[in-house]
Amino acid sequence: MKILIKGGRVIDPSQDLDGAADLLLDGGAIAALGPDAAAAGTADTVIEARGLVVAPGLIDMHVHLREPGREDEETIASGTRAAVAGGFTAVASMPNTEPVTEGEEGVKFVVAKACDAALARVHPIAAVTAGLRGEMLAEIGAAAAAGAVGLSDDGSPIANSGLARRALEYARMLDRPVISHSEDPGLVGRGVMNEGRVSTRLGLRGIPNESEDVAVARDIALARLARARLHVAHISTARSLELVAEAKRLGAAVTCEATPHHFALTDEAVASYGTNTKMKPPLRAEPDVAALRHALRTGQVDAIASDHAPHSQEEKDQEFDVAPFGIIGLETSLGLALTELYHKQVITLVDLVRLMSTNPALILGLRSGTLRPGAPADVTIFDPGRDWTVDPAAFLSISRNTPFSGWQLKGKAVTVIVDGRILLRDGEITV
Ligand SMILES: [Zn+2]
Ligand SMILES: [Zn+2]
Repeated sequence: MKILIKGGRVIDPSQDLDGAADLLLDGGAIAALGPDAAAAGTADTVIEARGLVVAPGLIDMHVHLREPGREDEETIASGTRAAVAGGFTAVASMPNTEPVTEGEEGVKFVVAKACDAALARVHPIAAVTAGLRGEMLAEIGAAAAAGAVGLSDDGSPIANSGLARRALEYARMLDRPVISHSEDPGLVGRGVMNEGRVSTRLGLRGIPNESEDVAVARDIALARLARARLHVAHISTARSLELVAEAKRLGAAVTCEATPHHFALTDEAVASYGTNTKMKPPLRAEPDVAALRHALRTGQVDAIASDHAPHSQEEKDQEFDVAPFGIIGLETSLGLALTELYHKQVITLVDLVRLMSTNPALILGLRSGTLRPGAPADVTIFDPGRDWTVDPAAFLSISRNTPFSGWQLKGKAVTVIVDGRILLRDGEITV
């Protein structure tokens, strides 16, 4: 099956490319790219992309798919369907499932389920410590051999620094990044939102910026000691952004990601939007959000990831103090990045594709994230100008926990192709 994508604006930072071009896919691979791609062969299907952006498939490198264990909240099939609807051709799944995704068996389960679903690709991230208990290392060598692209105890920090150091040393030998949920548990305490003026006003227990700052500083120090690759998940404070920037200047292999909710909302949102503004790290005060946007503008942030964290309505309907942390994001991430960053002149479309495809692929060591001939035929076509309203009832995710219900967004995925198969066409799921 040959697919010709005609007349779009092709943006591929991996080749420094931004301009009108045709793209030819042949089976599971990119076949040709350029003004003459149409001449390279007769296509079975032609997709008109005039006025649209044609990009290497978007990759959300931080999602929670909840399977095995909480299939009432999300499954690998429902989550990857939501991913496709949101414009993603691949996601990396976090291991805090029940049982925990660790070792050969855990990773192979995720790979097999994703294969059955045949929607967005799933790249498993395996646990660093056995059972995410933070006591001893999990079987990370076996996990990597089975296909884990990264290692993380996301959801909880690795409190024992000696263990974190050993994890980084093993990860280096395996050439995998350690993705850190950088949080000092003692400073988080029983906090439920950002510590500051708003938490005082609302009478809610606060989580200070320093809970993240000290953990990021430690994680960077240990990564430098181990000469390992460290990826800081969901960075949210001005100080931790400075720490990552400094580590990069010193030549450390440190990267970081920002979530749409951390660049689109401040802690003021907690007052009006209820438990769908409760997540870790918490929504921060305005100066930190400004610092995050500045870091996105200047290239100090490497990736945008949703931290898609489905929770049941019953659990989120509890009081703020007891409701679980986390919100979903697969179906709003691209729209929020386009609306809040591109249309507000924080970043360019080239930056956006770099943050949502090129860099996640580089960090996780994937073959995708590029439109070079021979690369996997994973393509996202989006309309940066399409207006739409976020309606959780229309989500393909099983869960509905989003603070963005009713938001007017500008920019949406139109067509998604994974492995040469058209899974989203004209904004509609085809499978
Ligand atoms: Zn986390
Ligand atoms: Zn997470």
